[in-house]
Formats: sequence, C-alpha cells, structure tokens
Amino acid sequence: MNSDTQPGIVVVLEPGLAATKRNRIRTRLEARGAVVAVVHGEGHDYLEVSGDHLPLATLPIGSWDGVAKVLLRGSEFPHASWGGGRGQEVLPTVVEVGGLPLGSGDFQILAGPCAVEDEDRLLRLAQQIQGTGTQVLRAGAFKPRTSPYSFQGLEGVGLEILARVKSETGMAIVTEVMDTRDVERVAEVADLLQVGSRNMQNYSLLKELGRQRKPVLLKRGFAATIREFLLAAEYLLSAGNDQVVLCERGIRSAAGTGQVVLDLGALPELRRHTHLPVVVDPSHGAGVNHRVLPLARAAVAAGADGVLVEVHDEPEEALSDGQQAILPQEFARLVGDLHAIRRALNEPAGKEEHV
Ligand code: PEP
Ligand code: MN
Repeated sequence: MNSDTQPGIVVVLEPGLAATKRNRIRTRLEARGAVVAVVHGEGHDYLEVSGDHLPLATLPIGSWDGVAKVLLRGSEFPHASWGGGRGQEVLPTVVEVGGLPLGSGDFQILAGPCAVEDEDRLLRLAQQIQGTGTQVLRAGAFKPRTSPYSFQGLEGVGLEILARVKSETGMAIVTEVMDTRDVERVAEVADLLQVGSRNMQNYSLLKELGRQRKPVLLKRGFAATIREFLLAAEYLLSAGNDQVVLCERGIRSAAGTGQVVLDLGALPELRRHTHLPVVVDPSHGAGVNHRVLPLARAAVAAGADGVLVEVHDEPEEALSDGQQAILPQEFARLVGDLHAIRRALNEPAGKEEHV
C-alpha cells in the first residue's frame, strides 16, 4: 500500500503534558520514519503525523504514556470507502458476474441449493430458477459445516457437476472456496467466488483471492462488526482485486428467537461507507424457511443490490440447510415480489397524483 492511500494520524496528547514527555513521543514516532508536527490546541497539544506511517500501524500508540487518544483522518478503508484516504470521488462499483452487472442500479438474484448434491437435481433446480429470469446459480461444492460429521460437500466432483450445469444452462455460477489450495480449481468454474461467513477473517485466503482476478462475494462474519467487514474487504481490494461484492447474512444475537438476526441496518450503513455493491442473504439470515420471503422483500426495500436465496425442491431431503430452503414455486413468487418492490421504489415521486 502506498503512503498516499494511508489515512492521516493525529495523536492527541493529555492536557498539560510536559514538553519533555511530548518530545519523547515525537522522537519515538520520528524514529519510525514519520513526519511529525506539533500543533498547540486549546487545552491540549496534538501531533500531526504525515509521510509513510505504515510502520506505525503495529504500535500501540494509544496506550503510550501521555497520549489521550489517536485519531485517524481520512478513511481507515482507503480502497473500500467513497474517496477514502485517496481523497477522490469514487463511483459505485459494478461487479461483472459472468457478464451480468451487479451494483449501482443493476440488481441480481443469486439462487440455488445450499450444496451441490447430485447432477440431476442441480440441473432441474437450475432450469426452474432460470425460468424466473434469474441468471446466477449458487451451490456449494465445498461446505463449511459446524460438525465434521455433517455432509462436507462433493468437493472436486461437485465442481465438475457445476461446470456441466453451467455449460448446459449458460447460467453464471457462485460457489464457495474455503482453502487457498483450491482457489485455482474453484475459479475455473466460478464466476463469483464465495468467501463464507466463517472465513471472512481468513486473511491468507483473502490475500490469495485478492491476487487472482475472479470477482469475490465476501460474506459478513456472523459476529463481525461493519468495521471488521470493511477491513476484510480491504484485504481483497488492496491486493489488487477490485471486483468485490459484500453480503450481509445475519449476525448472532442472544435476543433473537433463532440463532441469527438479519442486520438490515447494515445496508444503509455500508452504503454510507463504501462504493462496493451489497447483497443480502435472507436464507442464512433467517435460518428457517418461513422467514425467508419477508426478509428478502425487506432487503430489497432497504436497497440491496441483490439477494442470495437457497432453493430446494425437496427440502426435507436436503443434505445441508434444508430447514431454510424455499421451494421453487415460492422462489418464483418471490422473484415477482422483488421486481415489484424495485419498480415501486423507482417510480417517480408523486406519480399517484397524476393517475
Ligand atoms: C452458504 O452460503 O451456504 C453458507 C455456508 O453461508 P455462510 O457462510 O453465510 O454461513
Ligand atoms: Mn447454506
């Protein structure tokens, strides 16, 4: 990362700090190559740090004797934020998923079973989903399961099935990659590489995905703050991959009736901070199928650039996440609802008065 993408640092000193102590702090910063200016403020002084201060990133400056607090000027997310540390206006990012635009007004529905189970079923589901006008198929060949005794995915065989269903239907494919060693083979079939919630902070995986050129769907860790989510995206972006889609998929809450609560407030919050497209996964954000449709509709009303929905034709037979899968006919109804909500939101204000 270049120094011009670094946010500026302001070290606020404790009120009335003696000059000797202030100079000791200054000298320590300068020893790491920073350019430091002392500013005399009202009540307390502060140090403005400029130049390449990346070497300071690992120092616990906020806990140094005489330091009241450390402020970051500009953004902590120089690549993900609007302008950020670069100080430039940035347009919303549009990510190309197998030739389909996602973001900045281009809405996509990503749908399919949780896992690739068998070829006939996947093809059948893909065709039903495609029949609704949906062009992106999701299905995992590598499944991150809580229990090592649960179905782990068909792995390589699953990738081969995905490749055949892709060529049969022409749909774009989103599928998860869990391990740095699999990035290449998963990227051969995937149009959008999914990073699961559990891997949002797998920094080796993020760095590897940042170096390759397929778009990445980064799912929010289920206990991650918005800051941690955006910093995870920075790993991809700062490594050179600018095709990143964020996905809100629900966070753990002790207050919910299930284990997870979909954080729809994340949508306006992320919109405020980042130019990256944001999609919502109401399936994992629900955990049970009867919540999925209302949450998907709410996500679109709240401004999602897309939704990721789990669909299965025999949920009671599903090898993973059957309890939250919706049926193909429910999915078809949902697609109609989502387009109606988008149309309603895009209608010019005051239209009703003229009809
Ligand atoms: C999935 O999409 O099937 C999945 C495992 O999601 P998450 O990582 O959000 O739990
Ligand atoms: Mn799932």
